[in-house]
Amino acid sequence: MEEKFTTIPEEYGSMVFNDKIMRERLPKDVYKAVHKTIANGTHLELDVANTVAAVMKEWALEKGATHFTHWFQPMTGLTAEKHDSFISPTSEGGVLLEFSGKELVKGEPDASSFPSGGLRATFEARGYTAWDPSSPAFVKDGSLYIPTAFCSYGGEALDKKTPLLRSMEALSKEATKVLHLLGKTEVTHVDTTVGSEQEYFLIDKDMYLKRKDLLMTGRTLLGANAPKGQEMEDHYFGVLKPKVSAFMHDLDHELWKLGIPAKTKHNEVAPAQHELAPVFETANVAVDHNQLTMEVMKKVADRHNFALLLHEKPFEGINGSGKHNNWSIVTNTGENLLDPGKKPMENTQFLVFLMATIAGVDDYQDLMRVSVASAGNDHRLGANEAPPAIISIFLGDELAGVLSALEAHKDYEGAGKSKMSIGAHVLPHITKDTTDRNRTSPFAFTGNKFEFRMPGSALSVANPNIVLNTAVAEELSKIYEALKDVPADEMDDKVKELLLTMLDEHKKILFNGNGYTDEWVEEAERRGLLNLKSLPEALPTFKAEKNIELFTKHKVFTEEEIDARYEIILENYAKSIHIEALTMQEMVRKDVTEGIVSYMKELSEEAEKKTALLGGGAVYEKSILAELDAQSEKMMTDLAALTADTKTAESVEGGLESATYYYETILKDMDILRADVDAAEVLIPENYLEYPTYGEMLFSLR
Ligand code: ADP
Ligand code: MG
Repeated sequence: MEEKFTTIPEEYGSMVFNDKIMRERLPKDVYKAVHKTIANGTHLELDVANTVAAVMKEWALEKGATHFTHWFQPMTGLTAEKHDSFISPTSEGGVLLEFSGKELVKGEPDASSFPSGGLRATFEARGYTAWDPSSPAFVKDGSLYIPTAFCSYGGEALDKKTPLLRSMEALSKEATKVLHLLGKTEVTHVDTTVGSEQEYFLIDKDMYLKRKDLLMTGRTLLGANAPKGQEMEDHYFGVLKPKVSAFMHDLDHELWKLGIPAKTKHNEVAPAQHELAPVFETANVAVDHNQLTMEVMKKVADRHNFALLLHEKPFEGINGSGKHNNWSIVTNTGENLLDPGKKPMENTQFLVFLMATIAGVDDYQDLMRVSVASAGNDHRLGANEAPPAIISIFLGDELAGVLSALEAHKDYEGAGKSKMSIGAHVLPHITKDTTDRNRTSPFAFTGNKFEFRMPGSALSVANPNIVLNTAVAEELSKIYEALKDVPADEMDDKVKELLLTMLDEHKKILFNGNGYTDEWVEEAERRGLLNLKSLPEALPTFKAEKNIELFTKHKVFTEEEIDARYEIILENYAKSIHIEALTMQEMVRKDVTEGIVSYMKELSEEAEKKTALLGGGAVYEKSILAELDAQSEKMMTDLAALTADTKTAESVEGGLESATYYYETILKDMDILRADVDAAEVLIPENYLEYPTYGEMLFSLR
């Protein structure tokens, strides 16, 4: 049902069963009960659920919904949904529209076709979905969407939402304990806040449909660079092309209707690359909204005759796409714990949370890397564009100065020359300074939050936030243990002492320089920082004893859940590259060969005709022919190697062994074959090619 809105406030959230609607429509006591459930994660009584369901249904019907669906995030990284209509036939041949509390609260999808990593025995195909009232329901495409968690019957998480909620809980618990020690007894709960900036490419849809590689794998497996790439640096923040602008406009409105606070849009560095950033929200909602954003943006692009590419590296030779995960912690009293603030007391508090974050990222570098590992994102990390695969933290001059002063037992001479020492003087309010930005750092402090820049554009941001929340929860729990018996009058000194010890232990992770240089790679190695270049190298650390301990202690994953996820990630990696290898083979055998053969045929006929007509050697044609001939011969050999190795890959046993084989052998084979094809491609006129070139695709939108 298309509703027309006159104002944005009217349109915003119009398809969302949000707090405002609940307050207006639910009986007072029911509204309170739902709120209590959201705030404390308590169980919802069935009669309450029944009332909510009835009201929700009425509202959804008004919005044009005929169906409802439990919406969840299985470990595929995508979202899943199964739609049931509200209809219930009556004996007189009519229908009633029904939706019960039970249907709202719990669903039982057949779980057997979702990856479970062995968690769900095949005889136990059932899984269940459970309503997550902390993320609002919404209507989209004629269905009422109910955000849910997805578990096996044994209660093991089969999704990304469950561990995320658990990690938020863990962080809340540990942060609250520390805050109470520091005197903030009014805080009862903290939330993680997340704002994820989404990068993407837009190309012409007809061109997209002609590229099997984009269709099957999301990235181009072949294709010589266009004469123009991003070297002119003329795209970043450039004027939006009218067609692109129309798309973005349309997208904003679609997102706003769903209550997604789309805020910023601009061109990115690479041609045809763009970014959308929302206003930050509670992590759980932000993750749901990012999943929804990715889906909606593809749909809206299609309407505009574009294909929207979310792959991390759709094109060789130009920047890939990431998803910056801006992260902070906020108390239920509304205080951002990573805001340096103005008051002395808050400085200590800020430094404690800052240090907990630094320590968490340092101690769990490996998990941070694992949390962003995927076949797609591996093409990006480590290349000279995205942050390197080495995790380090950028603090900026101001904070680096504060920490050095702390270390030297000196006062800090702030930018405004205001004297400051921890807990005694005033830290000047650090406002966001756009000049003090280090784009090469994977984890940067940006004024009042940290920005994790390694996540890939296609990934769910659940994983990085699960790791961050849990790692910081662990450091806070250690801080609590160290301080819990300190008398109040000694607290300031003891905190300072503890911060110094922690700084000493973790300063190796701090790096303010350029993360793209070779010197940094060497320096990082000297410092003992990890450089896990690929998923197969990184993933085994997921099961390191310290990491299992971390997750089980904070009840974020059980050991079985870790094992299951480990297997799924490896399998997914191997499968992705397998599909790429097969797609490439098919493209080379059919599309590329067709292009080469028909052009060579044309050339040789031309050469013969020319010789017959003019005599002479047809030197020009022959030289191209010879080059193409040599190139296609190489291509044939390298295609044979890829084909044989892909066969071998199928029989490699063991998740890690298989993934490693794909990384070490198949990806190399593909690189070699690609070089042959690309060298041939530049010799062939476009009308002989079965697929559009880089130049055509990247500059296809006007
Ligand atoms: P950029 O890094 O491109 O300069 P901005 O500073 O405009 O981007 O914002 C980046 C993202 O950080 C936005 O999505 C914004 O909502 C988010 N953000 C701002 N404050 C917080 C916070 N306290 N917690 C989490 N995310 C935040
Ligand atoms: Mg950013």
